[in-house]
Amino acid sequence: MEAFVPEQALEDFQKTVLENNPHANMERIRQAFDFAVAAHEGQKRKDGSPYVTHTIAAAAIAAEMGLDDESIIAALLHDVLEDTDTSYETVSEKFGKDVADIVDGVTKLTRVQYSSLEERQMENLRKMLLAMAKDIRVILIKLADRLHNMRTMQYQTPEKQLSKSRETMEIYAPIAHRLGVEKVKDELEDLALLYLDPVGYREITNTLEKRRLIMEQFLQEMEKTIEDRMAKEGIKCKVYGRLKHLYSIYRKMYAQHLGVEEIFDLCAFRVIVDGLADCYNVLGIIHEMFRPVPGRFKDYISTPKPNNYQSLHTTVIGTEGIPFEVQIRTWEMHMTAEYGVAAHWKYKSGPSGHKEGDEEKFAWIRRLLESQQDSDAQDFYHDLKVDMFDDEVFVFTPNGDVKSLPAGATPIDFAYSIHSAVGNRMVGAKVNGRIVPISYPLQNGDIVSITTSNSSAGPSRDWLNIAKSGEARSKIKQWFKREKREENIQQGREMFEAEAKRVGLAMTDITDPEMLPHILKRMAVQELDDVYASIGYGGMTASHAVGRIRDEILRNRAPAKKTELEKMQERADRRQQQKPQKAVQGVLVEGLDNCLIKFSRCCTPVPGDPIVGFITRGLGVSIHRRDCVNYKRDTDGGRWIKVTWAEETSDFYTAELHITSDERSGLVMDVATILNGLNARVRSLNARDTGKGTTVAAITLDVKNAEELQTIVNKLQTIRGIRDINRGGV
Ligand code: MN
Repeated sequence: MEAFVPEQALEDFQKTVLENNPHANMERIRQAFDFAVAAHEGQKRKDGSPYVTHTIAAAAIAAEMGLDDESIIAALLHDVLEDTDTSYETVSEKFGKDVADIVDGVTKLTRVQYSSLEERQMENLRKMLLAMAKDIRVILIKLADRLHNMRTMQYQTPEKQLSKSRETMEIYAPIAHRLGVEKVKDELEDLALLYLDPVGYREITNTLEKRRLIMEQFLQEMEKTIEDRMAKEGIKCKVYGRLKHLYSIYRKMYAQHLGVEEIFDLCAFRVIVDGLADCYNVLGIIHEMFRPVPGRFKDYISTPKPNNYQSLHTTVIGTEGIPFEVQIRTWEMHMTAEYGVAAHWKYKSGPSGHKEGDEEKFAWIRRLLESQQDSDAQDFYHDLKVDMFDDEVFVFTPNGDVKSLPAGATPIDFAYSIHSAVGNRMVGAKVNGRIVPISYPLQNGDIVSITTSNSSAGPSRDWLNIAKSGEARSKIKQWFKREKREENIQQGREMFEAEAKRVGLAMTDITDPEMLPHILKRMAVQELDDVYASIGYGGMTASHAVGRIRDEILRNRAPAKKTELEKMQERADRRQQQKPQKAVQGVLVEGLDNCLIKFSRCCTPVPGDPIVGFITRGLGVSIHRRDCVNYKRDTDGGRWIKVTWAEETSDFYTAELHITSDERSGLVMDVATILNGLNARVRSLNARDTGKGTTVAAITLDVKNAEELQTIVNKLQTIRGIRDINRGGV
């Protein structure tokens, strides 16, 4: 173990920071460094080194992720609130409120208790952490903290190794993935795998070790082959070859029941280019150089992944029959892929006075920032805050289960979300061990326990105003309806009489023995008390009840007017029937409102196509094109139903195109280029050679209507060698 020399550590650290951001404010960062060293003075890690080495390492990772000065300072200080007697106020005074808030956020995340949960709960826990973080930098620093802890896990007890690794695999790696920080995600997964399945881990590393020389040679040769060829074609690019990360190999082994030696595409190459057009050019050239593996081409440029990842992926067969994957992307896409949301900070312009050499190096980043020009710096920063779960709050039960409730929810909502019996017998609540009022707004991460009593008198009417969730409110109303009929009748009658008086309706008119049967029939009740009870528990308003009863009295009282009223009623009824039917997903089904609609996969109808519906057993109505073979062939005539497109159709419909063409290289690229040029929303594009001189390709894409689809087909037909394009299902 090397002795810790603060001056040396500072020098190394400074180097890392400046390498990643030449404009970093070293003055402030150095102050934070000294502050952390002093605050953690005397504290040791499990391996005997000074505790502060951990926070310095986490800050170095934050710097490598490209985070800003505030984040690097906060990372240096991320454990001072939890582990030293430094206060929030001190941090805020010395380093500003932003830094103090970030450190405070990281501390809160660290306090969340984790236990292994079922998958649905796990997703809630991930959301809880993201929601608690508020500022996305909090979660990124937490990832840096966890990454360093995992790198030094060998000094911990086996129990701790296991529980931290599971937490990393189930919570932190998926969060890193969601934020698009793939580099951190890959390393977290590999480190966790080492402890979760040491045997599987070693099986892979041993095999890779044996084949390392061959593969390294292969990687180098391929890098050069591809770079040379691109240079000849006049395309500027950088090629990086690498082995895939261990956990991705591991997952493949287990998903496909293969041994390591049976997994071929262990190698992957990234070709990084300057502009979008070059991506498709490189793809075409790669497919000319090597034979593509059918069905492996994916265009994540026109259809990015949910975490904004963009790239073209293809798998090809290299020399000696070794398959490998190629990812093609621009530098901008590359930064987003490696650092995700963190990429937004990387090289964010520092103080003015750039050094000469920086200009070229940062040109592409300027372009990236320019594309964001219309949003000013402040908005840009706001966009990066985590507000995706603003309408939800996540809390724990005493057993460690996670409950998701509407934002602003109270212990009442929590109690009813567990069980109505818990809510109805609730007499008090504790949050994190402390008694709170039942109107306390729950905070993310709170541990909530409900005190119940069998002698409880039940919920109070005020609770209806305090509860935030529909679930709690309807359960409270149910209780009043059932348990408190007498009280409801009493209260409801008072409200009813007051309303009747207000509109000038005498109670004697209502209780008139001639009139009462008509009224009861109209209200569909046995006795007037039922109406009062309903008003009392809140199922009906007094004005609604009085209004209907008054109508009924008028109708029955004057025969002359009665016909007039009846005519009016009839006209209203007719209007009711004629009112436009409600369309579902842009389709009107004759005689059916709101039924489940499903677009058939065999013929993928889109607006503009003549269509017909088929009444499925239990799955609603499936929509086919009228020229679909399944419609023409089917004899079960009774189950076909008339359907039409609504005047206004909803957004997009999935359609399929089948292309047959002469077999030739560059075909897929031509197709992709045209689709890209038309801004087509492509979901997948698969092509394979039939071996009989033709290539067949299937494209799945989202279109607005048949017209748009036809435009695409017309354009595709101009491609050299195309023999036929059809929509399938015929
Ligand atoms: Mn830490």
